[in-house]
Amino acid sequence: MGSLDTTPAYKQQAIEGKGQGLVATRSLKPGDLILSEPPLFTTASLTNPATFEKDLGAIVKGLPKDGQRAFLSLHNNNPGSDPFSNIVRSNGYPLGPDSDVGAIFPLVARLNHACRPNAQHTWNAKRGVEVVHAVREVKEGEELTLSYSMGGPSEERRGSLEAYFGFDCKCEVCSLPQAELEASDARLREAQKLDEAIGDPRRVRHLPERALADCKALLGVYREEGIFDLRLPRLDYDAFQIAAMHSDAARASAFAKLCAEARTVCEGEESEEVVNMRALEAKPASFPNWGATKKWKSKIEDVPKDADANAFEKWLWKEAA
Ligand SMILES: [Zn+2]
Repeated sequence: MGSLDTTPAYKQQAIEGKGQGLVATRSLKPGDLILSEPPLFTTASLTNPATFEKDLGAIVKGLPKDGQRAFLSLHNNNPGSDPFSNIVRSNGYPLGPDSDVGAIFPLVARLNHACRPNAQHTWNAKRGVEVVHAVREVKEGEELTLSYSMGGPSEERRGSLEAYFGFDCKCEVCSLPQAELEASDARLREAQKLDEAIGDPRRVRHLPERALADCKALLGVYREEGIFDLRLPRLDYDAFQIAAMHSDAARASAFAKLCAEARTVCEGEESEEVVNMRALEAKPASFPNWGATKKWKSKIEDVPKDADANAFEKWLWKEAA
């Protein structure tokens, strides 16, 4: 994927009601790299909460002038005391999902939130940069957006966005006409229920057919709702785990492949998670929780080779042909 065009895919401009934002300078396809940015600084050395503001002040003072300007021009959700800490709280991103260390990426911080985002950010540890990819088709001039929230129906999303980021979301989804918003909320409540059921390990163990059917249903909800972010590869990974638990090498390999492809769109080929999933696609039995039962035992060679898309889908989800 990735375009060969070397002019930046974004430009910064004022967005009505949101301060500054980034918009696409050309049309983008799913998986196109929008930008990659090294941290202006990280919070790795800030280990003492009592002196956080003071130590952070020293870091900011030590930055080159344009870096200081970039930092101080970022939005502060909670102006008043401890201005440096609050700018970091308002704009920082962790260095990967499991990291306690935060970092400031002045450009990435300009990407505003949308509940149905068109881009995904991720920390690329190998290159030491935050990368942002388009996750769906984006038109020239369209605002580029990330999701800051955990999803859920509009009331939940808007409540947590207000509480953590201090804004009332007026994105495309939150400002849908009432009837359409209710339909979207119903889908997202259904998605939460399905997600919870899929995460129940006893069900995965004892009712795997139903757990797999729930994965397919959830995928349908995401499609209808226009969700293209990391929720897609996470769902493929859930389906992979169900197949893996029951020794189904063929489906485990197929879901690992789908997961790697969906992750590549969100995070790029170099993503560690993509590399991990490619390894599981080749050797699903290397998964630590492989084969608790032999219920669906199969070999990778059992992946149907000449099936059309429809027949493949039916096989994949264990539906009658
Ligand atoms: Zn919204």
